[in-house]
Amino acid sequence: MNCEIIAIGTELLTPWRQDTNSLFLTEELNRLGAVVRYKTIVGDRRPDLVRAVRTALARTDIVIVMGGLGPTEDDLSREAVTEALGLSLRRDGSLVAALSARFAARRTPMTENNLKQADVIEGAEVMANPNGTAPGQWLDTAHEGYRKLVMLIPGPPGECKPLFQEQCVPRLKQILPARHIARRTLKATMIGESAADALLAPIYTTYADVETTILAGNCEIQLQLACAKPSAEAAQERVDELAGRLEEALEEYLFASHDETLEQIVLYYLEMKQATLAVAESCTGGMLGERVTSVSGSSRSFLGGALVYSDALKTAFCDVPPQLISAHGAVSAAVAQAMADGIRRRTSATYGIGITGIAGPGGSSDEKPVGLVYVALSDAQGTECSENQFRGDRQKVRQWATQKALDMLRRRLMQ
Ligand code: AMP
Ligand code: MG
Repeated sequence: MNCEIIAIGTELLTPWRQDTNSLFLTEELNRLGAVVRYKTIVGDRRPDLVRAVRTALARTDIVIVMGGLGPTEDDLSREAVTEALGLSLRRDGSLVAALSARFAARRTPMTENNLKQADVIEGAEVMANPNGTAPGQWLDTAHEGYRKLVMLIPGPPGECKPLFQEQCVPRLKQILPARHIARRTLKATMIGESAADALLAPIYTTYADVETTILAGNCEIQLQLACAKPSAEAAQERVDELAGRLEEALEEYLFASHDETLEQIVLYYLEMKQATLAVAESCTGGMLGERVTSVSGSSRSFLGGALVYSDALKTAFCDVPPQLISAHGAVSAAVAQAMADGIRRRTSATYGIGITGIAGPGGSSDEKPVGLVYVALSDAQGTECSENQFRGDRQKVRQWATQKALDMLRRRLMQ
């Protein structure tokens, strides 16, 4: 069933307050197999509230109205829902008594405005709110010939969350068919978002029951698959089937089938092949080593490396011949290869990686623009080097350089 969450409160339309409750509600609803199709935030104006509720009733089956249940003048949710559904409000005697008792227990006089919290929409069930004065309301009703579930729940997070869990979830479980959600995340790199979508959309659009989201960021593309079915096995089967087809289409761009990071994958292959890695980093200043060592257990395959920013250290730590640097410049394919080769020999690693480039914003020339990065990979069979022109600021260029290095190694390991 489809769902809309309406968060009510003028404060939620200011720069200082956010609707955070709906994140929690969405998680709970998804777990029940309900899909949140819309979220609306609306201020405390009755005509706006009525319009928002009518709109929600017209486009979803489950409408959650949150906030605006308090005693003050601007708390209008009960009235707005009543008007939108063409129903009436009645004052509930037992709720009035409960409110009076609550105030009496605290030895404070109850002001008249509190009484509206005892107003119940015609046909609604009252949902107890032990954490506050305003109870919630549950309405299972028909609207223009369709069954609609409407819930009114309080706004303060300390009331909203327990009330939803204790009162709404059990009621929803009785109505919603049992659903199980299966999820998979695939990751690819060195392919653009639009190129990936052009390749994959013809496939995933034929799986209407699997929700597929493509996200780009951190030098990678993520494909998030989710499928809800009556049985966990059926959901998993559909997700796995689509994942298999997407993996096949992505070919060598795909690096993770189950949400792994690129560094995890590289270390996994290194260990499987009982191979070791050492790195020589110039413009990335240790970023590659940091990524690799962020994975626990990396010590089994990662030997370490040299942070060789100056020409002198490239020679001292990686045996890069000074003539090579003066002939080609420190940012060159020849120097990247010599770094990769040098660090591999010095450390007796199976693989050596060398990175040298211009991260910017300064230090560029006509022949060597900002973003030019050479990444070299060396093993006993030889050395390969890639010339890259990365875009973005200093941090982005450096991030891409480490991504390229890890991806070159991954591809080599998969051969
Ligand atoms: P109300 O029930 O509308 O009077 O809300 C009382 C208080 O609960 C507000 O002042 C907010 O601090 C908080 N609140 C209301 N709605 C939300 C929401 N959607 N997310 C987070 N906090 C909320
Ligand atoms: Mg409010």
